[in-house]
Amino acid sequence: MSYLAVIGLEVHTELKTNTKIFCSCKNEFNLEPNINCCPVCVGMPGALPVLNKKAVEYAIKAGLALNCEINSLTRWERKNYFYPDLPKAYQISQAEAPICLGGYMEIETQNGPKKIRLNHIHLEEDAGKLIHSEYGGSLIDYNRGGVPLIEIVTEPDISSADEALVFLENLRALLKYIGVSDCRMEQGSLRCDVNVSLHKEGEPLGTRVEMKNLASFKAAHRAITYEINRQTEILNSGGKVIQETRRWDDQKGRSYSMRTKEDAQDYRYFSDADLPPVKISREFVRKVRETLPLLPKERAQKYVEEYNLPPYDAQILTSERTIADFFDECVALFDNPKMISNWIMTDVMRKLKEQQTEDIVLPINARNFTKMLKLHLDNVINQPAAKTLFEYMWDQDSKTDPEQLIQKLNLVQISDEGELEKILQEIIQNNPAAADDVRGGNKKAIAFFVGQVMKATKGKANPKTVNELIQKLLS
Ligand SMILES: [Zn+2]
Repeated sequence: MSYLAVIGLEVHTELKTNTKIFCSCKNEFNLEPNINCCPVCVGMPGALPVLNKKAVEYAIKAGLALNCEINSLTRWERKNYFYPDLPKAYQISQAEAPICLGGYMEIETQNGPKKIRLNHIHLEEDAGKLIHSEYGGSLIDYNRGGVPLIEIVTEPDISSADEALVFLENLRALLKYIGVSDCRMEQGSLRCDVNVSLHKEGEPLGTRVEMKNLASFKAAHRAITYEINRQTEILNSGGKVIQETRRWDDQKGRSYSMRTKEDAQDYRYFSDADLPPVKISREFVRKVRETLPLLPKERAQKYVEEYNLPPYDAQILTSERTIADFFDECVALFDNPKMISNWIMTDVMRKLKEQQTEDIVLPINARNFTKMLKLHLDNVINQPAAKTLFEYMWDQDSKTDPEQLIQKLNLVQISDEGELEKILQEIIQNNPAAADDVRGGNKKAIAFFVGQVMKATKGKANPKTVNELIQKLLS
């Protein structure tokens, strides 16, 4: 029996503001525990929260990039639950009037583009972090408590683990691109919960199961696949899926029941009297919109139309803002978008892959990179020398002018006919049989002579001149 899967996601993303959402403690990661805390973020009685405007701005920015409607009045509610990472025993969140409503993101699927609708985006504070000690017991670090979070809640428009993965990857890229979050999964600044239900075509939706603790996109993909299989087995054997929350154990590759699903009213949401509602003027939204960069899709479109790049290349170039900005900078300095794009798509991308870091770092600047391309285009250095120079600039010296570097590395191309002719004549003398082959029209033998000249000149010979000389001497 086959079922249709209905999947919804809740993605929590920490915003990279300087300070926390309701106090002036720093929003920093990787510090000694419990040093970025104050009476507000650890919930001392009488301490009053004050809203960080930047967090509102970033949430709106995310909303605009995701085609949401921005609420003109947004309110704060307390979400009550007891857990040691939440010293106030409530989390300041939004339920009645979240900051962004609706919205969507389009993803590419096997069956073409698909719109994944959002229900809303709300702002809230993060909780502290429990550290389970190897000596038994648990420790708590409140540095994270009060860090601004947006929770992006999708409609159940996702139909497979693959689609969920594509959505998450695109969302992460977009949030990083617009600069509201680092989205570092390994640091927990992006986390997601998924809910999955199965039903037969034409029948009402099935019972939802929520899964928490998904620390990576791969884990989310595995957990969804596992859950679809688990529910399929239950339904096929005539059983009933129970509404519950399950915890995914990525190491064991299975999920465990945590609790039967609480309803929203179990949190006893009620208005936070310490925080007035926030009026968001259209003027403020307009100003935030002005801070949005050209989004990847539009930017890729521009590259295709203005620079005549293939759509695939344009998409790769615009998938990361650092790369797209680098490309733009290069084009501004050197009007050869195709050549720049080719080098970025191959050599730059390869070097970036070697870095194996989540954040892209370009050790090379646009000025020197384009100078290197010009030297190659002007035949001062040939292709292998350009590659050598690029590697050197990337790995060892990105500051020195490439013109100086090619002298230092002895990479200047030899185009001097007299010099090359002398070298070639010697090679011909030493290889009479191969020379006869060339005279007899053997193309492979031509390549042999080119190779020998390159070897003798340490790759610096101008290949065009060499080819011309071979024609001249061996025809
Ligand atoms: Zn604080």
